[in-house]
Amino acid sequence: MSLLPDFEYRRPGTLKDAISLLSDYGEEAVLLAGGTALVPRLRLGLKRPNLVIDIKEMAEDLRYVKNEAGVLRVGCLSTIYEIKKNALIRDNYPSLHEAATLMASEDIQQRGTVGGNILQDTRCTYYNKSERWRKGFQSCFKIGGAICNAAKGGKKCLSVYSGDLAPALISLGASVCIMSSDGERELPLEDIFSGDGSAPFSLTGTDFLKEIILPIARKKGGYDKFRLRKSIDYPIANAAFSIDDEHHGRVVVGSSGPKPFIYDFSSPEELNKIPGRAYDDMRLINNMSFPPLYRKHLAKVLVERLIRRDIK
Ligand SMILES: Cc1cc2nc3c(=O)[nH]c(=O)nc-3n(C[C@H](O)[C@H](O)[C@H](O)COP(=O)(O)OP(=O)(O)OC[C@H]3O[C@@H](n4cnc5c(N)ncnc54)[C@H](O)[C@@H]3O)c2cc1C
Ligand code: SF4
Repeated sequence: MSLLPDFEYRRPGTLKDAISLLSDYGEEAVLLAGGTALVPRLRLGLKRPNLVIDIKEMAEDLRYVKNEAGVLRVGCLSTIYEIKKNALIRDNYPSLHEAATLMASEDIQQRGTVGGNILQDTRCTYYNKSERWRKGFQSCFKIGGAICNAAKGGKKCLSVYSGDLAPALISLGASVCIMSSDGERELPLEDIFSGDGSAPFSLTGTDFLKEIILPIARKKGGYDKFRLRKSIDYPIANAAFSIDDEHHGRVVVGSSGPKPFIYDFSSPEELNKIPGRAYDDMRLINNMSFPPLYRKHLAKVLVERLIRRDIK
């Protein structure tokens, strides 16, 4: 792997200072939390910021899981390991507990944060490569070009969002609190996904994800993923499922394009149709380590198994 490029490095002690730096530098700055997703991208030359803003110093203010009047608030700097070990989450939000448990390996879970997990960039076999490797191909949509190397004639980038936590959080109806120099706003987590792999999030370079907010728990549900190496890998297919006592709920299918697919249901009949609907909806291209048809099949089987397992 290559050396890190040159950049200015700052370590603000408060959220106010971090927001002020973001507002001064805009798209030229990038936030560094655990660094487990960002640092490999910097080394590959996929991101070339002028300023890296290390936010770990702010852990005291932004690393928490707290229950406030039936609403769960998770600070962006909480680690995946803390989510996995939290008894409140384990007992009330099973899909989130399982997603954290299956994320990468325990050492990465201890370093990686919830905010960084949600806002990790999309991936593609033609993109997550060294600069030298990429030189063998024309610049694609994701690096400012006008073609897709994975799908000849493709009209937009379909690089894949492979985060573990977002599908689980969306299945639970999570929202996020975003801060910027304009103030604070809350929006459903699914609304931060743009659907375009070139710029997968609808947030701007000056937005800061402060916390995740979960409504009163839906007791049943789960999360599962298929990965190449069981000890560490990103999902090739993943799905989350949450259901309440009235049989209302949500299935979320990830790793199937730039944003997760969401299916709400309010009866067993509707629920049973979801694996087939997900299979039909997926328009995958050859940009992951398994062929598109196989990945579609994997996702369908994963959803079927998850429903069978958790509906008992
Ligand atoms: C070997 C390996 C295996 C991995 N396997 C998985 C896996 O199975 N599943 C998975 O989901 N991920 C996986 N990852 C990716 C990564 O480890 C996790 O997603 C991790 O949770 C990222 O968190 P972080 O704090 O390290 O993020 P960082 O690398 O610090 O940041 C990631 C991105 O989020 C932005 N960001 C971070 N915090 C904020 C914030 N508060 N507001 C706004 N922007 C922010 C950063 O600017 C950056 O663009 C893997 C990584 C490696 C190296
Ligand atoms: S899907 Fe196409 S446009 Fe997107 S990163 Fe891959 S090759 Fe580039």
